Amino acid sequence: MALPALVEPAGELSRDEIFRYSRHLIIPDVAMDGQRRLKNARVLLVGAGGLGSPTAMYLAAAGVGHIGLVDFDEVDASNLQRQVIHGTSDIGRPKLDSAADTIRELNPYVEVIRHETRLTSDNARDIIRPYDLVIDGSDNFPTRYLVNDACVLEGKPYVWGSIYRFDGQASVFWAEHGPCYRCLYPEPPPPGMVPSCAEGGVLGVLCATIGSVQANEAIKLLTGIGDPLVGRLLIYDALELSFKDIRVRKDPECPVCGKNPTVTELIDYEEFCGVVSDEAQTAAAGATLTAKELSELINDGRPIALVDVREPAEWQINRLPGAKLIPLAELPSRLTELPQTEPVVVYCKTGVRSAEALALLKQSGFSTAKHLGGGIASYAKTVDPDMPRY
Ligand SMILES: [Zn+2]
Repeated sequence: MALPALVEPAGELSRDEIFRYSRHLIIPDVAMDGQRRLKNARVLLVGAGGLGSPTAMYLAAAGVGHIGLVDFDEVDASNLQRQVIHGTSDIGRPKLDSAADTIRELNPYVEVIRHETRLTSDNARDIIRPYDLVIDGSDNFPTRYLVNDACVLEGKPYVWGSIYRFDGQASVFWAEHGPCYRCLYPEPPPPGMVPSCAEGGVLGVLCATIGSVQANEAIKLLTGIGDPLVGRLLIYDALELSFKDIRVRKDPECPVCGKNPTVTELIDYEEFCGVVSDEAQTAAAGATLTAKELSELINDGRPIALVDVREPAEWQINRLPGAKLIPLAELPSRLTELPQTEPVVVYCKTGVRSAEALALLKQSGFSTAKHLGGGIASYAKTVDPDMPRY
Protein backbone atom coordinates (compact mmCIF):
# COMPACT_ATOMS: atom_id res chain seq x y z
CA MET A 1 0.00 0.00 0.00
CA ALA A 2 1.82 3.13 -1.21
CA LEU A 3 0.89 6.39 0.53
CA PRO A 4 1.39 9.96 -0.67
CA ALA A 5 4.39 11.85 0.72
CA LEU A 6 3.72 13.44 4.13
CA VAL A 7 5.80 16.51 3.42
CA GLU A 8 6.00 19.10 0.63
CA PRO A 9 9.46 19.72 -0.87
CA ALA A 10 11.60 22.53 0.57
CA GLY A 11 13.22 25.10 -1.73
CA GLU A 12 16.36 24.51 -3.77
CA LEU A 13 19.28 22.70 -2.11
CA SER A 14 22.58 24.55 -1.86
CA ARG A 15 25.70 23.37 -3.67
CA ASP A 16 27.05 21.94 -0.38
CA GLU A 17 23.81 20.14 0.37
CA ILE A 18 23.74 18.64 -3.11
CA PHE A 19 27.23 17.20 -2.62
CA ARG A 20 26.44 15.97 0.92
CA TYR A 21 23.29 14.14 -0.16
CA SER A 22 24.58 12.99 -3.58
CA ARG A 23 24.19 9.26 -2.80
CA HIS A 24 20.50 9.91 -2.13
CA LEU A 25 20.07 12.23 -5.10
CA ILE A 26 21.16 9.60 -7.61
CA ILE A 27 18.57 7.06 -6.35
CA PRO A 28 15.66 7.55 -8.77
CA ASP A 29 13.00 7.02 -6.04
CA VAL A 30 14.51 9.64 -3.74
CA ALA A 31 16.21 12.11 -6.10
CA MET A 32 16.03 15.88 -5.68
CA ASP A 33 12.31 15.84 -4.90
CA GLY A 34 12.65 13.32 -2.04
CA GLN A 35 15.68 15.04 -0.55
CA ARG A 36 13.87 18.39 -0.53
CA ARG A 37 10.94 16.73 1.25
CA LEU A 38 13.33 15.38 3.90
CA LYS A 39 14.75 18.88 4.35
CA ASN A 40 11.26 20.21 5.04
CA ALA A 41 10.34 17.32 7.37
CA ARG A 42 9.64 17.64 11.09
CA VAL A 43 10.13 14.40 13.05
CA LEU A 44 9.59 13.99 16.79
CA LEU A 45 11.68 11.37 18.57
CA VAL A 46 10.48 10.33 22.00
CA GLY A 47 13.56 9.25 23.99
CA ALA A 48 17.23 9.68 23.14
CA GLY A 49 18.10 6.19 24.38
CA GLY A 50 18.60 2.76 22.84
CA LEU A 51 16.21 3.09 19.91
CA GLY A 52 16.37 6.89 19.74
CA SER A 53 20.16 6.94 19.29
CA PRO A 54 20.52 5.17 15.93
CA THR A 55 17.22 6.60 14.70
CA ALA A 56 18.24 10.19 15.42
CA MET A 57 21.70 9.70 13.93
CA TYR A 58 20.47 8.18 10.67
CA LEU A 59 17.66 10.70 10.26
CA ALA A 60 20.12 13.53 10.84
CA ALA A 61 22.63 12.07 8.39
CA ALA A 62 19.82 11.56 5.87
CA GLY A 63 19.00 15.27 5.99
CA VAL A 64 15.71 15.35 7.92
CA GLY A 65 15.59 19.10 8.45
CA HIS A 66 13.92 19.38 11.86
CA ILE A 67 14.32 16.77 14.59
CA GLY A 68 12.51 17.19 17.90
CA LEU A 69 13.86 15.24 20.88
CA VAL A 70 11.93 14.49 24.06
CA ASP A 71 14.11 13.39 26.99
CA PHE A 72 14.79 14.47 30.57
CA ASP A 73 17.45 11.92 31.53
CA GLU A 74 21.18 12.19 32.02
CA VAL A 75 23.78 9.96 30.36
CA ASP A 76 25.18 7.25 32.62
CA ALA A 77 27.86 4.67 31.92
CA SER A 78 25.39 1.77 31.67
CA ASN A 79 23.73 3.54 28.68
CA LEU A 80 26.82 3.40 26.49
CA GLN A 81 26.53 -0.30 25.58
CA ARG A 82 23.69 0.62 23.20
CA GLN A 83 22.95 4.38 23.23
CA VAL A 84 25.58 5.23 20.64
CA ILE A 85 24.59 8.87 20.22
CA HIS A 86 26.33 9.49 23.59
CA GLY A 87 30.02 9.00 24.43
CA THR A 88 32.11 8.41 27.53
CA SER A 89 32.83 12.13 27.99
CA ASP A 90 29.04 12.76 28.04
CA ILE A 91 28.48 10.82 31.28
CA GLY A 92 26.50 13.06 33.64
CA ARG A 93 25.33 15.43 30.88
CA PRO A 94 21.67 15.76 29.89
CA LYS A 95 20.98 13.33 27.04
CA LEU A 96 19.44 16.18 25.06
CA ASP A 97 22.71 18.15 25.10
CA SER A 98 24.77 15.13 24.19
CA ALA A 99 22.40 14.05 21.40
CA ALA A 100 22.18 17.59 20.00
CA ASP A 101 26.00 17.82 19.85
CA THR A 102 26.27 14.51 17.99
CA ILE A 103 23.57 15.54 15.51
CA ARG A 104 25.24 18.91 14.92
CA GLU A 105 28.53 17.16 14.24
CA LEU A 106 26.86 14.71 11.83
CA ASN A 107 24.89 17.33 9.94
CA PRO A 108 24.88 21.07 10.71
CA TYR A 109 21.90 21.54 8.37
CA VAL A 110 19.59 19.84 10.89
CA GLU A 111 17.63 21.91 13.38
CA VAL A 112 17.32 20.16 16.76
CA ILE A 113 14.25 21.11 18.81
CA ARG A 114 14.63 20.27 22.49
CA HIS A 115 11.80 19.13 24.72
CA GLU A 116 13.47 18.57 28.09
CA THR A 117 10.46 17.09 29.79
CA ARG A 118 8.60 13.90 30.52
CA LEU A 119 5.75 13.36 28.07
CA THR A 120 2.44 13.53 29.98
CA SER A 121 -1.25 13.73 29.26
CA ASP A 122 -0.97 17.50 29.74
CA ASN A 123 1.76 18.21 27.20
CA ALA A 124 1.81 15.31 24.71
CA ARG A 125 -0.67 16.67 22.15
CA ASP A 126 0.89 20.15 22.16
CA ILE A 127 4.38 18.72 21.73
CA ILE A 128 3.36 16.33 18.94
CA ARG A 129 1.14 18.74 16.96
CA PRO A 130 3.79 20.64 14.94
CA TYR A 131 5.47 17.43 13.71
CA ASP A 132 4.81 15.33 10.61
CA LEU A 133 5.34 12.03 12.40
CA VAL A 134 6.38 10.61 15.76
CA ILE A 135 8.97 7.92 16.45
CA ASP A 136 8.75 6.14 19.80
CA GLY A 137 12.14 5.23 21.19
CA SER A 138 10.98 4.99 24.78
CA ASP A 139 9.90 1.36 24.96
CA ASN A 140 7.75 1.58 28.10
CA PHE A 141 4.02 1.04 28.47
CA PRO A 142 2.85 4.41 29.83
CA THR A 143 4.64 6.36 27.08
CA ARG A 144 3.58 3.92 24.38
CA TYR A 145 -0.14 4.34 25.13
CA LEU A 146 0.27 8.09 25.57
CA VAL A 147 2.06 8.51 22.21
CA ASN A 148 -0.37 6.21 20.43
CA ASP A 149 -3.44 8.03 21.70
CA ALA A 150 -1.95 11.48 21.07
CA CYS A 151 -1.05 10.44 17.50
CA VAL A 152 -4.58 9.12 16.86
CA LEU A 153 -6.13 12.31 18.26
CA GLU A 154 -3.72 14.52 16.27
CA GLY A 155 -3.89 12.39 13.11
CA LYS A 156 -0.15 11.62 13.02
CA PRO A 157 1.64 8.43 11.99
CA TYR A 158 3.33 6.66 14.92
CA VAL A 159 6.49 4.70 14.15
CA TRP A 160 6.77 2.18 16.95
CA GLY A 161 9.59 -0.13 18.02
CA SER A 162 10.15 -2.50 20.90
CA ILE A 163 13.21 -4.44 22.09
CA TYR A 164 13.80 -7.19 24.66
CA ARG A 165 16.96 -9.29 24.95
CA PHE A 166 17.33 -10.71 21.40
CA ASP A 167 13.82 -9.91 20.16
CA GLY A 168 12.64 -6.82 18.36
CA GLN A 169 9.35 -5.61 16.91
CA ALA A 170 8.34 -2.63 14.81
CA SER A 171 5.26 -1.26 13.11
CA VAL A 172 3.72 1.96 11.84
CA PHE A 173 0.43 2.79 13.53
CA TRP A 174 -1.68 5.30 11.66
CA ALA A 175 -5.40 5.29 12.36
CA GLU A 176 -6.26 7.03 9.08
CA HIS A 177 -4.73 4.22 7.04
CA GLY A 178 -4.59 1.18 9.32
CA PRO A 179 -4.60 -0.02 12.91
CA CYS A 180 -3.29 1.87 15.94
CA TYR A 181 -1.45 0.29 18.87
CA ARG A 182 -4.70 -0.13 20.81
CA CYS A 183 -6.23 -2.09 17.93
CA LEU A 184 -3.64 -4.75 18.89
CA TYR A 185 -3.49 -4.19 22.65
CA PRO A 186 -6.60 -2.28 23.80
CA GLU A 187 -5.45 -1.79 27.42
CA PRO A 188 -2.09 -1.96 29.19
CA PRO A 189 -1.48 -5.03 31.36
CA PRO A 190 -2.15 -4.52 35.08
CA PRO A 191 0.87 -3.49 37.19
CA GLY A 192 2.56 -6.59 38.59
CA MET A 193 1.90 -8.61 35.40
CA VAL A 194 4.90 -7.08 33.64
CA PRO A 195 8.29 -8.65 34.38
CA SER A 196 10.32 -6.32 36.56
CA CYS A 197 12.74 -4.08 34.72
CA ALA A 198 15.73 -5.85 36.23
CA GLU A 199 14.69 -9.00 34.41
CA GLY A 200 15.02 -7.25 31.04
CA GLY A 201 18.30 -6.63 29.32
CA VAL A 202 18.91 -5.96 25.67
CA LEU A 203 21.58 -6.90 23.18
CA GLY A 204 23.00 -3.49 22.27
CA VAL A 205 23.12 -4.08 18.54
CA LEU A 206 19.41 -5.00 18.54
CA CYS A 207 18.72 -1.28 19.04
CA ALA A 208 20.49 -0.55 15.76
CA THR A 209 18.43 -3.13 13.88
CA ILE A 210 15.06 -1.93 15.14
CA GLY A 211 16.06 1.76 15.27
CA SER A 212 17.16 1.68 11.65
CA VAL A 213 13.87 0.01 10.68
CA GLN A 214 12.10 2.94 12.37
CA ALA A 215 14.29 5.49 10.55
CA ASN A 216 13.67 3.64 7.28
CA GLU A 217 9.89 3.78 7.76
CA ALA A 218 10.04 7.47 8.68
CA ILE A 219 11.97 8.30 5.49
CA LYS A 220 9.51 6.30 3.36
CA LEU A 221 6.50 8.05 4.89
CA LEU A 222 8.03 11.52 4.61
CA THR A 223 8.94 11.06 0.95
CA GLY A 224 6.04 8.81 -0.10
CA ILE A 225 8.14 5.90 -1.39
CA GLY A 226 7.79 2.14 -0.97
CA ASP A 227 5.40 0.09 1.08
CA PRO A 228 5.19 1.38 4.65
CA LEU A 229 4.84 -0.93 7.66
CA VAL A 230 1.21 0.17 8.12
CA GLY A 231 -1.04 -2.76 9.03
CA ARG A 232 1.95 -5.06 9.47
CA LEU A 233 3.93 -6.08 12.54
CA LEU A 234 7.60 -6.86 11.97
CA ILE A 235 9.06 -9.50 14.31
CA TYR A 236 12.82 -9.90 14.44
CA ASP A 237 14.74 -12.68 16.20
CA ALA A 238 18.43 -11.86 16.43
CA LEU A 239 19.46 -15.36 17.56
CA GLU A 240 17.75 -17.19 14.70
CA LEU A 241 18.34 -14.19 12.48
CA SER A 242 14.82 -14.19 11.13
CA PHE A 243 12.41 -11.44 10.14
CA LYS A 244 8.70 -12.23 10.04
CA ASP A 245 5.94 -9.89 9.17
CA ILE A 246 2.34 -10.49 10.14
CA ARG A 247 -0.79 -8.64 9.07
CA VAL A 248 -2.56 -6.64 11.75
CA ARG A 249 -6.03 -5.24 11.23
CA LYS A 250 -7.84 -2.20 12.37
CA ASP A 251 -10.33 -3.08 15.12
CA PRO A 252 -13.69 -1.38 14.53
CA GLU A 253 -14.22 -1.59 18.32
CA CYS A 254 -10.82 -0.04 19.14
CA PRO A 255 -11.18 2.17 22.25
CA VAL A 256 -9.38 5.11 20.62
CA CYS A 257 -9.64 4.79 16.81
CA GLY A 258 -12.82 2.68 16.54
CA LYS A 259 -16.38 3.72 15.69
CA ASN A 260 -17.38 4.50 19.27
CA PRO A 261 -14.18 5.54 21.01
CA THR A 262 -14.11 5.49 24.81
CA VAL A 263 -10.64 7.04 25.03
CA THR A 264 -11.21 10.64 23.95
CA GLU A 265 -8.50 12.27 26.01
CA LEU A 266 -5.02 11.27 27.11
CA ILE A 267 -4.43 9.01 30.11
CA ASP A 268 -1.34 8.87 32.34
CA TYR A 269 -0.77 5.22 33.14
CA GLU A 270 1.33 4.22 36.12
CA GLU A 271 4.96 3.42 35.63
CA PHE A 272 5.09 -0.38 35.51
CA CYS A 273 8.63 -0.87 36.68
CA GLY A 274 8.88 -0.75 40.42
CA VAL A 275 5.18 -1.39 41.02
CA VAL A 276 4.43 -4.17 43.48
CA SER A 277 1.21 -6.11 44.02
CA ASP A 278 -1.15 -5.30 46.90
CA GLU A 279 -0.10 -8.53 48.72
CA ALA A 280 3.56 -7.54 48.51
CA GLN A 281 2.81 -4.05 49.73
CA THR A 282 0.99 -5.44 52.76
CA ALA A 283 3.77 -7.96 53.49
CA ALA A 284 6.47 -5.27 53.30
CA ALA A 285 4.71 -2.94 55.73
CA GLY A 286 6.71 -3.14 58.97
CA ALA A 287 9.01 -5.82 57.54
CA THR A 288 11.36 -3.69 55.48
CA LEU A 289 15.00 -3.12 56.42
CA THR A 290 17.03 -0.20 55.12
CA ALA A 291 20.47 -0.93 53.71
CA LYS A 292 22.02 0.62 56.80
CA GLU A 293 19.92 -1.51 59.17
CA LEU A 294 20.84 -4.65 57.25
CA SER A 295 24.56 -3.83 57.27
CA GLU A 296 24.39 -3.35 61.06
CA LEU A 297 22.75 -6.76 61.47
CA ILE A 298 25.46 -8.34 59.30
CA ASN A 299 28.30 -6.51 61.10
CA ASP A 300 26.90 -7.45 64.54
CA GLY A 301 27.03 -11.10 63.49
CA ARG A 302 23.30 -11.56 64.13
CA PRO A 303 21.95 -14.92 62.96
CA ILE A 304 20.05 -14.09 59.80
CA ALA A 305 19.51 -16.11 56.63
CA LEU A 306 20.12 -13.85 53.63
CA VAL A 307 18.31 -15.00 50.50
CA ASP A 308 18.95 -13.43 47.09
CA VAL A 309 15.87 -13.83 44.86
CA ARG A 310 17.44 -12.44 41.66
CA GLU A 311 18.52 -14.39 38.59
CA PRO A 312 21.91 -16.18 38.35
CA ALA A 313 23.20 -13.63 35.79
CA GLU A 314 22.58 -10.83 38.30
CA TRP A 315 24.19 -12.82 41.14
CA GLN A 316 27.36 -13.00 39.04
CA ILE A 317 27.55 -9.19 39.02
CA ASN A 318 27.25 -8.60 42.78
CA ARG A 319 25.88 -10.22 45.94
CA LEU A 320 25.81 -9.76 49.70
CA PRO A 321 28.28 -11.83 51.75
CA GLY A 322 26.78 -15.04 53.11
CA ALA A 323 23.70 -14.89 50.90
CA LYS A 324 22.06 -17.89 49.23
CA LEU A 325 20.69 -17.61 45.70
CA ILE A 326 17.09 -18.76 45.17
CA PRO A 327 15.53 -17.01 42.13
CA LEU A 328 11.99 -15.78 42.83
CA ALA A 329 10.39 -18.26 40.41
CA GLU A 330 12.04 -21.19 42.26
CA LEU A 331 11.21 -19.97 45.76
CA PRO A 332 7.83 -21.76 46.14
CA SER A 333 9.43 -25.17 45.50
CA ARG A 334 12.55 -24.48 47.58
CA LEU A 335 11.05 -23.24 50.86
CA THR A 336 12.40 -26.32 52.67
CA GLU A 337 15.94 -25.02 52.08
CA LEU A 338 15.24 -22.03 54.34
CA PRO A 339 16.11 -22.21 58.05
CA GLN A 340 13.21 -22.25 60.50
CA THR A 341 15.20 -20.79 63.39
CA GLU A 342 16.90 -17.66 62.04
CA PRO A 343 14.93 -14.81 60.53
CA VAL A 344 15.04 -14.82 56.74
CA VAL A 345 15.97 -11.58 54.94
CA VAL A 346 15.28 -11.53 51.20
CA TYR A 347 16.71 -9.07 48.73
CA CYS A 348 16.71 -8.40 44.98
CA LYS A 349 17.97 -5.52 42.82
CA THR A 350 15.53 -2.76 43.79
CA GLY A 351 13.14 -4.28 46.33
CA VAL A 352 10.26 -5.20 44.00
CA ARG A 353 10.88 -8.92 43.59
CA SER A 354 11.93 -9.26 47.23
CA ALA A 355 8.61 -7.73 48.32
CA GLU A 356 6.80 -10.37 46.25
CA ALA A 357 9.05 -13.04 47.81
CA LEU A 358 8.24 -11.67 51.27
CA ALA A 359 4.50 -12.02 50.63
CA LEU A 360 5.06 -15.68 49.72
CA LEU A 361 7.21 -16.28 52.81
CA LYS A 362 4.67 -14.70 55.14
CA GLN A 363 1.90 -16.84 53.64
CA SER A 364 4.11 -19.90 54.16
CA GLY A 365 4.59 -19.24 57.87
CA PHE A 366 7.89 -17.34 57.90
CA SER A 367 6.39 -14.65 60.12
CA THR A 368 9.70 -13.01 61.08
CA ALA A 369 10.93 -12.67 57.46
CA LYS A 370 11.97 -9.24 56.22
CA HIS A 371 13.16 -7.74 52.97
CA LEU A 372 15.72 -5.14 51.97
CA GLY A 373 14.00 -1.94 50.81
CA GLY A 374 15.63 -0.54 47.70
CA GLY A 375 17.46 -3.83 47.17
CA ILE A 376 21.14 -4.39 46.62
CA ALA A 377 21.16 -1.20 44.52
CA SER A 378 20.48 0.80 47.66
CA TYR A 379 23.04 -1.24 49.62
CA ALA A 380 25.72 -0.52 47.00
CA LYS A 381 24.86 3.16 47.05
CA THR A 382 24.68 3.80 50.78
CA VAL A 383 26.80 1.10 52.44
CA ASP A 384 29.31 -0.32 49.99
CA PRO A 385 30.23 2.12 47.20
CA ASP A 386 32.92 -0.26 45.88
CA MET A 387 30.33 -2.91 45.02
CA PRO A 388 29.79 -3.31 41.23
CA ARG A 389 26.50 -1.80 40.03
CA TYR A 390 24.23 -2.64 37.10
ZN1 LIG B 1 -7.07 1.58 17.10
